[in-house]
Amino acid sequence: MSVQGVLDKIKENSIQFVDFRFVDLAGRAHHITLPATEVDGDTFVNGVAFDGSSIPGFRGIEESDMVMMPDTESVFIDPFTDHPTLNVMCNIHTPDGERYDRDPRSIAQKAEEYLQSSGVGTAAFFAPESEFFIFDDVRYESSMNTSFYSVDSEEAAWNTNRKEEGGNLGFKVGVKGGYVPVAPVDSQQDIRSEMVRLMQEAGLRVERHHHEVATAGQAEINFRFDTLTKTADNLLLYKYLVHNTARQYGKVATFMPKPLFGDNGSGMHVHQSIFNGDSPLFYEKGAYANLSQMALHYIGGILHHAPALIALTNPSTNSFKRLVPGYEAPVNLVFSKGNRSAAVRIPVAAVTPKGCRIEFRTPDSTANPYLAFAAMLLAGLDGIQRKIDPTALGYGPYDKNIYELSDEEKKEIRSVPGTLDEALDALEADSAFLTESGVFSQDFIDNYVAFKRQEAKAVAIRVHPHEYGLYFDC
Ligand code: GLN
Ligand code: MG
Ligand code: MG
Ligand code: MG
Repeated sequence: MSVQGVLDKIKENSIQFVDFRFVDLAGRAHHITLPATEVDGDTFVNGVAFDGSSIPGFRGIEESDMVMMPDTESVFIDPFTDHPTLNVMCNIHTPDGERYDRDPRSIAQKAEEYLQSSGVGTAAFFAPESEFFIFDDVRYESSMNTSFYSVDSEEAAWNTNRKEEGGNLGFKVGVKGGYVPVAPVDSQQDIRSEMVRLMQEAGLRVERHHHEVATAGQAEINFRFDTLTKTADNLLLYKYLVHNTARQYGKVATFMPKPLFGDNGSGMHVHQSIFNGDSPLFYEKGAYANLSQMALHYIGGILHHAPALIALTNPSTNSFKRLVPGYEAPVNLVFSKGNRSAAVRIPVAAVTPKGCRIEFRTPDSTANPYLAFAAMLLAGLDGIQRKIDPTALGYGPYDKNIYELSDEEKKEIRSVPGTLDEALDALEADSAFLTESGVFSQDFIDNYVAFKRQEAKAVAIRVHPHEYGLYFDC
């Protein structure tokens, strides 16, 4: 949309306020609101000033002046405000008009520019499947209190269920029993449908929604693939609408990867493909899973760099509580068609040549999507450029359930890092694939690692409830 298009939209919809938003290092949105009467063509040229020193992970106090530079391609009318408000996503610039090298959205755009300059293709497409839980307060409390003393995780989660609604087990969802039952077992159809309605109004093309596998309240809504930065914008919009619709229903929605011990966590599988103009470059009829050599090399790059990549796709201490065997979350760095226990899956049902894609199943929604998508693209491109053959490196294909392989067979397979610190170690040791293209600066990587190390430490030094069960009566 042009600047004039945005100004017309403000007029036509009697917009009273314009909300300028940007994204911090962790992927959270922030906003500053201007009365619509203060917004004109110049606002889109000069931007909106803010104090970068107050945003975690951004600038120091001595160089705090920053500018939000609105992107007219990404606007929507806020459905939650009392006063008609138009939201505009922004890049972050320094006072001298440069793209700020810690701005996640600028990094996403640079990754797209790099793809185009590489000659590999013209566009990369992304589609995240971002799962979440809808809890009410009672539920949240009981999940916090579960399993202090229990060693049986399933029993613990089952007990949580029983506590939630007062003992009557009729039409409740059991542990891992939530995949697509109809109402009254699925008690959240209306809230998900309302989320979808608001998404459509805000311009997202939603494909479907359903109750997910975990016990009561896990949900997934799928919106259509798009280019890298656009999809990251879409994901931010998605999370905003999910969080605030839940709030309107007196609930709370969380994208935390593993809120309930003993049940499935919430992932954000990311589907990816590269096109040249209209031609899909990942498709080759008759090959394994109809995948082209280029797609295999892309997979090679993703799996080869996975330990480092995961520092950006799974960037929380909680992320690693999801990446354990038995809950449909990947643990093994292998690829496979159809097999959901592999880190990279190639969907084969109902796939057209244009829909041919790979699915990286490791990420979760604590990822900053701008950084995570950019990093995945760069890992894949490195695989293409260096012709990293995933089969020669022992990454598969594995078409059986990897959770059930013998110990001998399992020894051959690389696993995901076990903790955030291990992933950060891997990123420190393997970041050239991010920095050599100039998409990520070394300053960005150093700052990111330091920022995340603090988080890991803050969690590690705190006393954990489970420690009371293990040690209190020593
Ligand atoms: N929740 C699972 C995960 O953590 C995925 C379940 C599914 O979509 N089949 O990745
Ligand atoms: Mg799905
Ligand atoms: Mg799912
Ligand atoms: Mg999936």
